[in-house]
Amino acid sequence: MRAVRLTQVGKPLENADVPVPETGPTDVLIRVAAAGICHSDAHYRAGISEIDNLPLTLGHEVAGAVEEVGSDVTHLSAGDRVCVHYLVSCGSCEFCVRGLEQFCRSGQMIGKHRDGGYAEFIKVPGGNAFPLPDEIPFEVGAIMMCSSATALHALNKARFKAGESIAIFGFGGLGFSALQLARAFDGADVYVVEINPAKLASAASMGAIAIDARSADPVEQINEATADRGVDVALELIGSAKTMRQAVLCLAPVGRAALVGLTAESMSIHPYTELINKEAEIIGVSDHLATELPALIEFVRSGKLRFPPETLRVVDLDAAQINAALDALQDSIDHVRTVIVPSSDK
Ligand SMILES: [Zn+2]
Ligand SMILES: [Zn+2]
Repeated sequence: MRAVRLTQVGKPLENADVPVPETGPTDVLIRVAAAGICHSDAHYRAGISEIDNLPLTLGHEVAGAVEEVGSDVTHLSAGDRVCVHYLVSCGSCEFCVRGLEQFCRSGQMIGKHRDGGYAEFIKVPGGNAFPLPDEIPFEVGAIMMCSSATALHALNKARFKAGESIAIFGFGGLGFSALQLARAFDGADVYVVEINPAKLASAASMGAIAIDARSADPVEQINEATADRGVDVALELIGSAKTMRQAVLCLAPVGRAALVGLTAESMSIHPYTELINKEAEIIGVSDHLATELPALIEFVRSGKLRFPPETLRVVDLDAAQINAALDALQDSIDHVRTVIVPSSDK
């Protein structure tokens, strides 16, 4: 089968001809219909996130049709449309048993620790294949399994609920989903903090109150807009100590700041006045859980979380096209996602 693989860190991905994976009794073989090209893939190619077993087929945002079903897999049949949960976990360690499989002692990420979806076929454990409703196109089924799932996990970790207000710091892929999900949760006012004018305009057009962090301190702007109350939840999606601190400072009493963006910087908080006095909480957010995916799929099926066609761009399963898409990802400022749709005629 055709696959596009990382053979050497720091070098372009390469076209390869590899055997179709052999499936065991607990696996399913999926004919890939769509695979999202993600920022993480650019990091793997560049060596920013380490990969130790090369060559490797990248691609952790995958949807397709079931081709073969292992004898122990009972919830799927050949031909079923599915999307893939990218975290493969053991199911039996302490964390898996508690439903916290992102901390599995032997967890593997598809497209990082094992071959992913930049290929005609992918083998995954049956438990990682979730039925994809007919209303959801394969392209959307692929890209929703990464940043959208994490945005939902962030809202869940922050215990965000109907009637609460929220500030979203950063309007990239995560923010695009977080804003729509916050509205789907029947949240009250949604503030989006950004410095990019196009993103501010886009957030406003989707129902958010745009906070331009270039014009004045966003914390002061949020305080002014809320009559010095602050917001119930703040999501930090950028990965900067400055905006993490702002996310904490804009909280109302008993507010929760969920930190999702990654940074190596340190952040400073005055415990008494900025945290203890308000009984505020700072919550770390990492990945998402299999148990959250049915709700996510339903939000997309019902149209509450949308990826309009103009936000999707399609390329073939071809190294040159994929490398060009990875190059373009570095400096993209819009919400257009590139999805690999393998042509069937080769
Ligand atoms: Zn991703
Ligand atoms: Zn485990």
